[in-house]
Amino acid sequence: MSKTIIVSNRLPLQLSIENGQVHSAPSVGGLATGLKSVHRDNNGLWIGWTGLTVEETPSNLQSAIDTAVQDQQCAAVELTQEDMDGFYYGFSNRTVWPLFHYFMEYAEFNEENWEIYKTVNRKFAQVVIDNLEDGDNVWVHDYQLMLLPQMIREQRPNISIGFFLHIPFPSFEVFRTLPWRDEILHGLLGADLLGFHTYDYERHFLSSVSRILGYEVSFNAITYKDRVIKVDSFPMGIDYEKFSAFAKANHEQTDTTQSELQRRLDLHATATPDAKMILSIDRLDYTKGIANRLKAFEHFLEKYPDYSEKVRLVMLAVPSRANVPQYQVLKKEIDELVGRINGKFSTVSWTPVWYFYRSMPFNNLIDLYTSCDVALITPIRDGMNLVAKEYVATRTDRTGVLILSEMAGAAKEMNEALLINPNNLSLIADTIKQALEMPVEEQKKRNKYMQSRLKRYNVEKWATDFMKKLNAVEHNRNIVKAKHVNEKRQHAIMEKFNAASKRIFFLDYDGTLRGFVNNPEDAKPDAELLEMIKKLQQPKENEVVIISGRDSVTLGEWFADVPVTLISEHGVLKKAYGREWELTETMNNDWVPTIQPVLQTFVDRTPGTFIEEKNYSLAWHYRKADPDLGEQRANELSNVIRELTSNNGLTVLSGNKVIEIKSSNVHKGKAANNHILNKDYDFIFSIGDDWTDEFMFQDLPESAITVKVGVANTAARYYVDDTDQVRELIESFIA
Ligand code: UDP
Repeated sequence: MSKTIIVSNRLPLQLSIENGQVHSAPSVGGLATGLKSVHRDNNGLWIGWTGLTVEETPSNLQSAIDTAVQDQQCAAVELTQEDMDGFYYGFSNRTVWPLFHYFMEYAEFNEENWEIYKTVNRKFAQVVIDNLEDGDNVWVHDYQLMLLPQMIREQRPNISIGFFLHIPFPSFEVFRTLPWRDEILHGLLGADLLGFHTYDYERHFLSSVSRILGYEVSFNAITYKDRVIKVDSFPMGIDYEKFSAFAKANHEQTDTTQSELQRRLDLHATATPDAKMILSIDRLDYTKGIANRLKAFEHFLEKYPDYSEKVRLVMLAVPSRANVPQYQVLKKEIDELVGRINGKFSTVSWTPVWYFYRSMPFNNLIDLYTSCDVALITPIRDGMNLVAKEYVATRTDRTGVLILSEMAGAAKEMNEALLINPNNLSLIADTIKQALEMPVEEQKKRNKYMQSRLKRYNVEKWATDFMKKLNAVEHNRNIVKAKHVNEKRQHAIMEKFNAASKRIFFLDYDGTLRGFVNNPEDAKPDAELLEMIKKLQQPKENEVVIISGRDSVTLGEWFADVPVTLISEHGVLKKAYGREWELTETMNNDWVPTIQPVLQTFVDRTPGTFIEEKNYSLAWHYRKADPDLGEQRANELSNVIRELTSNNGLTVLSGNKVIEIKSSNVHKGKAANNHILNKDYDFIFSIGDDWTDEFMFQDLPESAITVKVGVANTAARYYVDDTDQVRELIESFIA
């Protein structure tokens, strides 16, 4: 039975060694809960690190640890202290984390850490490969494992691989500063489906792929070699029922069953019935905006002194990455700020900030969520922020106000919260006042909407949605009907070739015989290519036709010494070897003076574009333009030209990064068919890469061997990966 392999940095279990005995307990975090149905109910396997380095593992306990890991349906990746230092504390937390959260000045670019990041990703890949069977799916999680999808793909090309990033994907302008940006993108592109929390992160990723790697991006799909990679957003939810159920139980507790913390909170509420509590919970991380929050609270107390003794900030900061210098500086700053505020505003009966620097058990978190009137969550950047969602889920009577930073991914789904810019301290101060004074009816109305959304799109739905989409992508993989020219198919084509006595080859030029270059003039045929074409033409049974969108002068020059037929400008002109160019149909160029200035305005407005003038057509090239701007202007130009030319027989063709306007309805299909008319070829071969070649694939007789370069929806019967494979195929006809 096929299974899903989940891979994350940490395994969903807590391992500890007490008195020489191994103890293991499943972890109850959000991810483990969300993936429960994928992991436990479906014979799944979770691969990751146990939390104990090789050095920390007593050798006599190794087999007990292995058993404990296996019992939880897990497999461990063994990591040394050096691995952890370079891969986790180093590259993940000192490079990727700050950079992806827009803290560029904190990002360290350290070559050694990068090498260890690669090595450790390879260790993960090896454990995945060791456990992988045909038909399995793999779902890789988060920024520590961005190279893993491609490492798995290299060894097992047919496995379905999903990847989810739990942190933001930054804007291209930020991402491009990473020295290893190409490797990271290629690592991720090993996946079939890439998931992000929000559409913005998805957009940033697609823009980096298109700008840095230059790959074709269309809507949310990337075409890369023979694969179509889907990119989508899946906002991660929480275990809503769990939070809501615990909150209900909390309200029903008696004096004897209450926690100590709850008792204290209640005492405070009874002693000062009109005082309110504002909650702040995060890991102590510079992305969380804790200092800003304190400063805004200070500002609030200064601006609205009537609230003295009437409001308290309950702040839980969970220790995190305490060995990274920036976190130590932050800890000091927070300590000082709390000291300053409490020193400045405290009275004998009131301390404005209650500060806890530790983590709290789950029941205490529920105590805090259910007891505080306002939650103040103001990250500078946050991939999602689950605390905001958890707070709303625990408000079972629907009271409570959430103040949330618009820089948190969660803000995209929580429009009814009071959204603030975390850097605008006076806005936060005013919003605190607004929250404290918000009528209960309004609180309930806002929370009602948010709760129904959180309940519906909970963490389980998030996981199943992702898996559904991954399965659909797998299914779609086979949607391209053209068959790949593999060894077996190449052999079958050769058999037909060998059996034939009158053969013709229609060969497109750009993107087929030659790869694309920025400037079309630089795409001259190389000596090897010319030699290959000559050899193909040599046997008396063979006839070669170069059929291109290029103008006749260029083609004529390039192939002056090669005895082949040339068809130029998508079929407008034809030249047999040793003869003159002739028109295939009557053409006119009356339209050129009208259209040329229109194209010129697009060149002026779109840097990197230019016009190519051919005998009977004009082409606007935008390969060198900014990819987004280029696509946008290409759409605009097509529409403008179509409107201008609707009734005068011009055709607008969208090629590969080029818009071409030409006379009449001549196309490669018509030209190729006219050429073979009344001649009894018993082997017709046609190969091309773009839209304009589709006419050939459609119009040539059904028996023709039609081949598309690259994967796409095509009318061709076969496809090859790239121009290298084109040459390989043609070489086989010569050998
Ligand atoms: N949390 C916890 N113990 C604590 C404080 C918080 O387990 O003492 C949990 C909290 O319930 C939430 C998670 O930690 O599920 C924090 O997730 P979030 O997305 O808000 O921030 P992250 O730490 O992932 O950046």
